[in-house]
Amino acid sequence: MTDPSPSLATPYRTHTCGALRAADAGSTARLSGWVHRRRDHGQLIFLDLRDRYGLTQVVFDGVDAPDAHAAASRVRGEFVVTVAGSVARRLPGTENARLATGEIELQATGLEILSESKTPPFYINEPDAPIDEALRLRYRYLDIRREPMQRRLLLRSRLVQAIREVHHANGFVEVETPNLIKSTPEGARDFIVPSRLQPGSVYALPQSPQQLKQLLMVAGIDRYFQIARCFRDEDLRGDRQLEFTQLDLEMSFVDEPTVMAFVEAMAIEVSRAVVPGRRLQAVPFPRLTFDAAIERYGSDKPDVRFAMELVDIAPVLRDAAGEPASGFRVFDDALAAGGRVKAIAAPGLGRATRREIDELTEMAKRFGAKGLAHLAVEESGGVAGPIVKFLGEDRAEQIVAATGANPGDLVLIVADAADVTNDVLGRLRVALGARLGLADLATLAYAWVHRFPIYKWDPENGRWDATHNPFSGVVPEDEALLTTASGDLGKPAPGDPAGRAKALQYDLVLNGWELGGGSIRIWRRELLERSFALQGYSAERMKRLFGALLEAFDYGPPPHGGIAIGIDRWSALLTDQDNIREVTAFPKTQSGSDLMLEAPSKPEPGQWAELGLRFVGVAEPKA
Ligand code: ASP
Repeated sequence: MTDPSPSLATPYRTHTCGALRAADAGSTARLSGWVHRRRDHGQLIFLDLRDRYGLTQVVFDGVDAPDAHAAASRVRGEFVVTVAGSVARRLPGTENARLATGEIELQATGLEILSESKTPPFYINEPDAPIDEALRLRYRYLDIRREPMQRRLLLRSRLVQAIREVHHANGFVEVETPNLIKSTPEGARDFIVPSRLQPGSVYALPQSPQQLKQLLMVAGIDRYFQIARCFRDEDLRGDRQLEFTQLDLEMSFVDEPTVMAFVEAMAIEVSRAVVPGRRLQAVPFPRLTFDAAIERYGSDKPDVRFAMELVDIAPVLRDAAGEPASGFRVFDDALAAGGRVKAIAAPGLGRATRREIDELTEMAKRFGAKGLAHLAVEESGGVAGPIVKFLGEDRAEQIVAATGANPGDLVLIVADAADVTNDVLGRLRVALGARLGLADLATLAYAWVHRFPIYKWDPENGRWDATHNPFSGVVPEDEALLTTASGDLGKPAPGDPAGRAKALQYDLVLNGWELGGGSIRIWRRELLERSFALQGYSAERMKRLFGALLEAFDYGPPPHGGIAIGIDRWSALLTDQDNIREVTAFPKTQSGSDLMLEAPSKPEPGQWAELGLRFVGVAEPKA
């Protein structure tokens, strides 16, 4: 037998539509599937029969099998049929090398139509046909019948399988945690579910299982993982859905290097198992501090597949006394105000037209810059651009040298406050990297970013906000910084030492996307309370929101830490998609709608009363 999956045989089929080979010639077979394509040549009718496993050509001969031929003439695209016949080698010259079954065909003796189909709203048999996405989502079950969607969902399934295998092999226990819980803040808005049994009360859907996995560590599970569904009520983007899936894990008796080492080894093993053909750019993964990532790439999720790093050109703009003295006011003013002047060298863009440069300037402005300066490096090595007359040729050449630009390159310069300069150049770098094809699309460039500041100042609420997870630990040498300038934790202020403390937080980055993030947790109650106080939680609110965890920390919590990795994002990156909808079976649109099920929808009249609910400002349907 050549059928690689004999267990797939059922009363409807001896083989799948992808199984028959030349060695099966001469035997009989039964296949069932969808009619992918039908070609009627009069006496001969050809059907390509499709299922998840492949395509097989079936031929109906009006002379040899008149009944089957007559039945086949009634068949249309996407009908479901079952066909019996004998396997025959195709005539020499008519084989199809692109099909695994291309050496044979099934010569039908009988056909039965199992179900009919209307003409689908789009082509299912043309993988590259452009189809309006709203139509795809409305008829998602037909969209998933298409080969590209099948391929992506299969890869996603394989990804989750590989993840499970590696975790089980490393002593992890898969534990399910509930979806009806109490708020676990991850910085987004909660979805809430009204309780029928306790009218007036609500559950929150988990933004992540964060508190529960930490409680599992207190419970002695030691190594936990889960393929966890998370819910965050925030605006949708290419890499964000209202509900999404995370590989969530937590480990006890670990420090930062232990967690990073496991996650890195896991990511390598999983990548090699799921996409063996793709090159890993660097093993071990590069580790960048947050400061270095921002300094070099202008982003805390750098795409390290290509260089084009940000270069600080301030040293060549200052005089011997260290004063800004470039002769170009925009640069000098930015430095005098404590800002930064940095540059990137775009390879091969030296001959950009006026219009192209205007476009780049517009882009920089959209990203938040006041302007964009440029120097073109001519093939002769000379430097050109409107700012050369202010800088002088020598200094212009020094700038070019500092950036490492080559003849034919274009140096782009931003002068602004430090965060604006880094952010704008970082985004220009990504946009130009894509436009110039600098990133090798087949490469997987994983990288770690860590040593984030633990808090950022929240001016609106006058408090320190956790940059990642409110439970993240602090690097031991910065523990003393978790305080305010006044010493009163209830009165945080922007200049507090807390603003300088670094977190035991690490993000895993892949090809410029944040794939996941985690931390070693604060596992001592006193320190956790201190951190929560800086984050603006009163003792009462702390108890209300995190009471269980704080109390559990009175009963012997082990040191612990973990991470969560986005399965949707990982699947998208492994299948070269830039939108996670393409790897999600039933995603929601930008406005949060399920176009197929028509959700969200109005509650049934009885549900309102049962839950003790009334929507204010929304008309209630008549009961
Ligand atoms: N719970 C965090 C998140 O969902 C991840 C973690 O710190 O483990 O982002």
